[in-house]
Amino acid sequence: MTSALTADTTADLRLRTAALLHALGAKSPESGALSVRTPITGGELATLRPSTPAEVDAAVERAATAFHAWRTVPAPQRAAVVRRLAQLLTEHQAELGELVTLEAGKIGAEARGEVQEMIDICEFAIGLSRQLYGLTMPSERPGHRLMETWHPLGVVGVISAFNFPVAVWAWNTALALVCGDTVVWKPSEATPLTALACHTLLQRAAADVGADPQVHQLIQGGGEIGERLVDDPRVALVSATGSVRMGQLVAPRVAARFGRALLELGGNNGAVVTPSADLDLAARGIVFAAAGTAGQRCTTLRRLIVHADVAGPLLDRVAAAYRQLRVGNPLEEGVLVGPLINERSYAGMRDALERAQADGGELLCGGERVAGPHPDAYYVRPALVRMPAQTAVVREETFAPILYALTYRDFDAAIELHNAVPQGLSSAIFTRNQREAERFLGPDGSDCGIANVNIGTSGAEIGGAFGGEKQTGGGRESGTDSWKSYMRRATNTVNYSTELPLAQGIRFE
Ligand code: NAD
Repeated sequence: MTSALTADTTADLRLRTAALLHALGAKSPESGALSVRTPITGGELATLRPSTPAEVDAAVERAATAFHAWRTVPAPQRAAVVRRLAQLLTEHQAELGELVTLEAGKIGAEARGEVQEMIDICEFAIGLSRQLYGLTMPSERPGHRLMETWHPLGVVGVISAFNFPVAVWAWNTALALVCGDTVVWKPSEATPLTALACHTLLQRAAADVGADPQVHQLIQGGGEIGERLVDDPRVALVSATGSVRMGQLVAPRVAARFGRALLELGGNNGAVVTPSADLDLAARGIVFAAAGTAGQRCTTLRRLIVHADVAGPLLDRVAAAYRQLRVGNPLEEGVLVGPLINERSYAGMRDALERAQADGGELLCGGERVAGPHPDAYYVRPALVRMPAQTAVVREETFAPILYALTYRDFDAAIELHNAVPQGLSSAIFTRNQREAERFLGPDGSDCGIANVNIGTSGAEIGGAFGGEKQTGGGRESGTDSWKSYMRRATNTVNYSTELPLAQGIRFE
């Protein structure tokens, strides 16, 4: 099914964008060389002046200066900014969500869900502000106390991707602020307006609670502006979300100056479906994970590894559901698959499908472009391709809705196949066999940072740590103890005795 693609013109969307920015309190951006396009029509919403290198340096300087006072504000007081931000996000959830739809092309439910995720991480960070615990260990020396304390780290540079234009910022910023850090944010050049709106809300939150608004800085532009931030020795932590290619450029540069990097890079997520699986439940989980967000999530399901005995009925169910998916204008109710971000993304999808078919892949359904009145907008039907083997194209992340199906007979071989890709973000198993489920979660099971049972690969909750292994970069953000990445640890030994015993019983007299 295809939804009407005619509903909006770029001129309507441009007006709507300006109205949303106004409602969110953001000033119209200064126009310039950065063209902001909506994937809904492919037309231009606004132009924006990118930051100059000198402006990047000045933003880092302001953040570094603000850090000196911010680090000594008690953490529960720092949380006041985050609490106020959560209130503002709640008030403006619909408007910010719509802006996400306009800039990133997400359907309304997912865009509002992304804002909800921001509110959730703010709540988490507020509680965390009273739980930045250090340990106290027994000292081997009498009259001594041995402990660890956690301190603010410094300026955190946040580089974010287009497909989660606001949630990833909030994951980083809510935690960094309660941890006592200041933030310089370089959003994706594809989504600078949502970034402007978030920055405005945070500035307002800081002003409302009497905090220094300089704790947050926004810079705009592409990779070269990101590189300026990456190379700045005043930036203690670079938290970078994006493609493996970007991580390969960023990581060595940060390492060369002994900075810290937190990398959240591409995934190539797989699900194993075993003979005992509830196939109806599996099919529903698979369709949301593979086709949701038009396949443009880092956790999108890209590889299905299904037991040969159930491959037929499962793929029939998935293909039937795929044929029912409404592809179209993400502003319309009932649409489940919005547009790809741009032409490059569509070209990548087409190229991958050609390569897969050249490798012997059978296109079971989808893959075609849905024509509409906007030649620069790229709507596609999610593709399901049955592959004879896990060839090179399957081992790559193509950031579009292609689900490759592979079959297996032996469970060990299925796990081996699952892990035989360079990325290691998210994974799932659909089974009613507890041995298989536990094996998948165990040390010789999935090698990913996220491993699920009877649920798809996407749609993580903020309470768990989020991130992946191998080329996904090893970073962890969001819940549990991810906050430790945003702080530095000191080990303290306090001698409250009148003697000076040395560790390991060493005598130095
Ligand atoms: P991208 O790599 O093209 O860009 C991501 C960000 O990096 C942008 O802000 C970009 O300007 C910046 N950048 C690019 N080159 C840079 C450089 N040399 N130095 C500094 N910054 C640079 O990614 P994208 O197309 O925006 O997003 C899609 C990719 O992001 C996919 O691979 C997806 O899997 C990944 N992603 C990962 C996660 C995660 O948490 N693991 C989350 C979202 C997206």
